[in-house]
Amino acid sequence: MQNTQEFVLKIENLDFGYTKEKPLYSNFSLALRRGEIVSVIGASGSGKSTLFELISGNLRPQKGSISAGKISWVFQDPYSSFHPSYTLYDQIADVASMEGADELSREVGIEMSLLQKLPHELSGGQLQRCSIMRALLMRPDLILCDEPTSALDNIIQLDVMRLIVRFLDRAGVLLITHDMDLARWSSDTVISLDDTKKGVR
Ligand code: ADP
Ligand code: MG
Repeated sequence: MQNTQEFVLKIENLDFGYTKEKPLYSNFSLALRRGEIVSVIGASGSGKSTLFELISGNLRPQKGSISAGKISWVFQDPYSSFHPSYTLYDQIADVASMEGADELSREVGIEMSLLQKLPHELSGGQLQRCSIMRALLMRPDLILCDEPTSALDNIIQLDVMRLIVRFLDRAGVLLITHDMDLARWSSDTVISLDDTKKGVR
């Protein structure tokens, strides 16, 4: 059913390493369509954050190509992904159109009045909902999530992932996580960087 959907991320034959002695990616390919979640799993040091920097355009492939639609990000620690001294509303409006914010706030379970507060006045779970709200209001094709739930307790983790999954008709999601259960539960495809360093699709 989803095969007719457009690609929001395509990595083809990527080579990358910081040094010649230790290539992190060689001939790595990955494709992701709107409506799909692909998880990238790997031990610390396996190159997960490097992949995010490559996709975000902060690092350049040594070989191969990466093409992505419009990207938005959900980071691991919601407290450090917002500036401490501005209201959430101002920070979200700074990067996204607030059109549709009312409806979206209902969907993510955050009252609009909460957005008038400073980040530290909210719980981690509430704040992560705000960062999902920000990510979606940016109207992305691709949402990059770097351990989006690991700072949260178990129940809220699932909640937050369910939220991201609910919005899948609007974007594709690339999820980086250490949590194999979470990856298996939420994803269409799980790619392990520890095995082969090769994309599977
Ligand atoms: P992960 O996010 O999976 O823990 P990283 O992508 O951060 O892994 O790092 C992968 C490897 O590349 C590690 O061995 C790390 O030490 C190395 N590395 C990361 N950033 C740099 C850099 N800027 N210069 C040189 N080596 C780096
Ligand atoms: Mg990392």
